Amino acid sequence: MDNAKLHVAIVSSPGMGHVIPVLVLGNRLATVHGVRVTILVITTSNSDEERRFLKTLTLSTLVRVIALPPVDISAKITPATAAVTQLCMSVREALPIIRSSIASMNCGPDALILDLFCPSAIPIAREFSLPVYVYAPTNAWSTTLFMYIQVLDKEIEGRYVEQKEPLRIPGCKSVRPEDVVDPMLDRNDQQYHDYIELGIGLTRSDGILVNTWADLEPTTLKALRENETLKPAVKVSVYPVGPLTRPVEPSSLKSKVLEWLDEQPVDSVIYVSFGSGGVLSADQIKELAFGLELSQQRFIWVVRLPLDGGLSKSDDPLDYLPGGFLNRTKNVGFVVPLWAQQVEILGHPSVGGFLSHCGWNSTLESISAGVPMIAWPLYAEQKLNAAMLTEDLGVAVRPEVLPTKKMVEREEVEKMVRMVMQQKEGQEMRQKMKQLKSSADDGLSNRGSSFISMYNVLDEIRLNFRNQN
Ligand code: UDP
Repeated sequence: MDNAKLHVAIVSSPGMGHVIPVLVLGNRLATVHGVRVTILVITTSNSDEERRFLKTLTLSTLVRVIALPPVDISAKITPATAAVTQLCMSVREALPIIRSSIASMNCGPDALILDLFCPSAIPIAREFSLPVYVYAPTNAWSTTLFMYIQVLDKEIEGRYVEQKEPLRIPGCKSVRPEDVVDPMLDRNDQQYHDYIELGIGLTRSDGILVNTWADLEPTTLKALRENETLKPAVKVSVYPVGPLTRPVEPSSLKSKVLEWLDEQPVDSVIYVSFGSGGVLSADQIKELAFGLELSQQRFIWVVRLPLDGGLSKSDDPLDYLPGGFLNRTKNVGFVVPLWAQQVEILGHPSVGGFLSHCGWNSTLESISAGVPMIAWPLYAEQKLNAAMLTEDLGVAVRPEVLPTKKMVEREEVEKMVRMVMQQKEGQEMRQKMKQLKSSADDGLSNRGSSFISMYNVLDEIRLNFRNQN
């Protein structure tokens, strides 16, 4: 059975942050490996943005995207219900629809791939005798922690953030208590227990696809594969298939920001953005602005409304910048309200640095563009990503947060920006980033490690098909 006859169904949990990585994975399976792919997107009544986005997509003709009928969990949640808990509920609610969509397919799938929040759908794959994989659109270190929380839960008493010693995960880098992921902050919150269940779900799949590559995290990947301290001990098949990042959008019109970049010298602009959801306090926005100004470096900054006092004053993010800032920086800066074409910007030769919240997609996009970073993590697993970028890979610097004010001060911003854009440290980091980019490109190339990982998954699926028929 060749790839052209293989059909893989991928299930995505609701939310743009989950749908986009799944689409990127599906598109790679189709365009590089020639596999037919059906993507089932779980939706809720709040999924208008996803539905609009799904209509605008240009994907391989081998990829079919189905937005499932929306699930309604409104009666089961309160305003205090955490995002992870809501996601798990939505997925459980969608199980009958997932089952019936698979059953009604003319030519059913040969395997199921689930995103990180969908392991409750594993029994559906078993019902249809399909091999089932989980796609972790993150790195191996976060995935290992995720799988290992079930053990930490038994070993450690009290709040994780208050532990005196780093949290030990056999075979890989320990996690500093202050770096733990958000759902680990409160052990009494339902989302903590949901998170543990999701981690256990990983171990019940036939394999985990991780958005990393063999050369980036060799030791951690080994630990993830051979996590014998899990009880019962499990040996999970792990497939590093990345880095999978969004391709550049085909667009006939060049945006103003890209035109502006065309006018700037090579490696001279720092791009500042905190991902799709990262927001700063009003005071922090001002300090960041003053810091950029003091640094006298060229910049592009995606500015959002502040975390506090937002709409009550103005709903224009530019109104929260210091008075006169836009005028004073007009020759060196380009401010973009709310959203910018990040992949295109990072890939532009004039961009030489990225001040980022270290979301894994942004991190991979920066690596793929060979651009060194200032690591400014905010939430989720971003502190782990920042630790990896600064301590293990040496491709980022991390500003000091003033503990009394919980803020990065303007002088610190200035220092970091100058370091990355002007100084020897920045040049060294840029060099290392270029090496990482090249190792990432090698991984994805024909016969590269990530290509082979994906090939091996498809081989397993083919073998299962032969055994079943
Ligand atoms: N992104 C973008 N423009 C923006 C902000 C974000 O295109 O102004 C994209 C970015 O390229 C990345 C994704 O949104 O693909 C953000 O994902 P990431 O994992 O970095 O962070 P998250 O938003 O999940 O915190």
